[in-house]
Amino acid sequence: MNKSSKIYVAGHNGLVGSAIIRKLESKGYQNIVKRTSQELDLRKQAAVEYFFENEKPEYVFLAAAKVGGILANAKNPGEFLYDNVMIQTNIIEASKNFGVKKLLFLGSTCIYPKMAPQPLKEEYLLTGELEPTNEPYAIAKITGIKMCKSYNEQYGTNFISVMPTNLYGPNDNFDLKTSHVLPALLRKVHEAKLNNSPYVEVWGTGHPFREFLHVDDMADACVYLMENYSYKEIGEIINIGTGEEISIKDLVDLIVSVVNYRGDIKFDPLKPDGTPRKLTDIQKLNKLNWKSRISLKKGIEETYEWYIREKKYE
Ligand code: GDP
Repeated sequence: MNKSSKIYVAGHNGLVGSAIIRKLESKGYQNIVKRTSQELDLRKQAAVEYFFENEKPEYVFLAAAKVGGILANAKNPGEFLYDNVMIQTNIIEASKNFGVKKLLFLGSTCIYPKMAPQPLKEEYLLTGELEPTNEPYAIAKITGIKMCKSYNEQYGTNFISVMPTNLYGPNDNFDLKTSHVLPALLRKVHEAKLNNSPYVEVWGTGHPFREFLHVDDMADACVYLMENYSYKEIGEIINIGTGEEISIKDLVDLIVSVVNYRGDIKFDPLKPDGTPRKLTDIQKLNKLNWKSRISLKKGIEETYEWYIREKKYE
């Protein structure tokens, strides 16, 4: 990839896509192609083929996806399966047809079996049953991984797949019905503080553990892998994470201290906990000389500042 290469970032308004754009621009890449979902519906094959035929991007970051937290996945399983399979299938096929030199596909650590040993190694893919709350999403992402692999084998393409752990940061979704836990709790605790509410309600038991990676670290890793490593070196998939986990209860405490909220926390065990742990094994990534830099505390502080500045949903 050189600074004038034509780079298409699919999903440039999303959490990851917007961070990839910031990273590429800060490194001096000058030829970045973007389309909003109004301009190009990635679920429509003819539209995607037409776009690739005309624009002929050389590099593709496939960061477009239908994403959501635990309840959004549970309520809209058909949409999560259909949208994701269509978006990624159309882009991967068009990338093969129109000579894309390299593509980076974004998966998720929910592709690993619910009861896989921890930390999650790349080789655990398809060794057991998935977590039911996000199985349709995970099946779509596994399809994308296998498509990249199959296309590399059959057509000699260079399509790589990365599996980020739970991500957070600027441009995250703060809508309480569809968001992931970290932005949801930042918003809930912030609003409880503003309204002098006596307590904040947290879903589940607080016992599950999750790993959180700041999206700027994620974008840094994606661009680093695009610049330096090919499918032959990376293999079928590679995890991107911090290698550190925290319980939901401790995450709540951290957010409460960043926001400076003085009320109580109430757990609602009737809401789903999801998978008990989801910690990535990052040895493969470390061997390629990449490590995350932003600590969880600093990342939450920055995200909270961003949230207040943007005053989303207030
Ligand atoms: P997951 O990592 O795919 O399970 O997705 P989430 O980020 O949605 O949820 C992670 C964990 O946080 C689960 O155990 C949830 O029950 C818990 N959690 C606690 N409060 C909330 C909340 O307000 N929103 C969400 N999305 N999750 C919450």
